[in-house]
Amino acid sequence: MSAESIVAPDITDRTEMRRLASVFDHGRLIAIPTETVYGLAAPIDRPELVERIFALKGRPPDHPLIVHVASRAQARVCVSDWPEVADILASHFWPGPLTLVLPRSAAISDRITAGQNTVALRMPDHPVALALIEALDSPVVAPSANLFTRLSPTSAADVTEAFPASEVLVLDGGRCRVGIESTIVAVDEMTQTLWWLRPGQVDRGQLAALLPPGWRLSPPADEADSTQPAAPGGMLIHYRPGKPLRVTVVAGQAGLQGLRQRLHADPETTVVELPDQPAQAARELYAALRRADAQPGQFIDLIIPSERLDDAAWEGVANRLRKSASEWTRLDG
Ligand code: AMP
Ligand code: MG
Repeated sequence: MSAESIVAPDITDRTEMRRLASVFDHGRLIAIPTETVYGLAAPIDRPELVERIFALKGRPPDHPLIVHVASRAQARVCVSDWPEVADILASHFWPGPLTLVLPRSAAISDRITAGQNTVALRMPDHPVALALIEALDSPVVAPSANLFTRLSPTSAADVTEAFPASEVLVLDGGRCRVGIESTIVAVDEMTQTLWWLRPGQVDRGQLAALLPPGWRLSPPADEADSTQPAAPGGMLIHYRPGKPLRVTVVAGQAGLQGLRQRLHADPETTVVELPDQPAQAARELYAALRRADAQPGQFIDLIIPSERLDDAAWEGVANRLRKSASEWTRLDG
């Protein structure tokens, strides 16, 4: 089995799924496809494998891991409290790209939570991820299957580029449908606050609409006050391509054509423009940056109309662009 680096599992074959889950017993990690990005998985109760994730990714120990479950029952094992708001959000968005931060139970180690008394949980919307977690009969931790600060993987091939086959078996589940990491919210019963820690495909309007009376949604790290829980992945530099990415935000049409012409004529850069629909733009974002990274030239230039940055449907993409960019310019037309 150690020769394989990628398999496309038959999820209807329970024997095969159990055989794949047993890969963990041989000290190897498994990369799983999810609807957001590929995750580098290990069972929550295997500390040596959890440790291996930090080592392979080069991830600092103060960055907690998201726990992935295949059922509501598995989620309950990971928490000490399951408030009504968690139930409402999970009923509405699971399986799907929403991570809930809740008080942790004893099933979740300090290493997983980076010493915090909360755990981040989600149920991925991908049949292969769910089948593996079911076959294992245990939740897994699964941070994005990339090197720390680099672009997240949205295909099986992206994962094999980053990790040796001897360390990681990749389950191929095709291209990721969402393409950017999950929205993260922390459920705070004491203050009846839903702290919005990371934007993603589930946007603030969808979250606010579901909150019971008396609850409020509080904005992400860079806009909020200091009483909110720490979002350790909320650092400024993240999701970076190998080459410097220069983002130009263009207001109005006036400057756009000139900018396009100038950049397309420059052999030192590759120009990226995202699809017009936010869901498609999210799906394409990392793949487009990876392709541009592989082109000749020193730079990647991405052009984006300014109105998109103020649109709730674009907030996930806008957040990743801010963290990926080395330079950020606004062009008023
Ligand atoms: P990723 O590497 O894409 O899986 O991102 C994981 C991110 O989830 C972390 O970097 C944190 O921002 C967030 N996270 C995980 N656990 C917690 C927690 N207990 N409290 C707050 N944020 C968390
Ligand atoms: Mg990550």
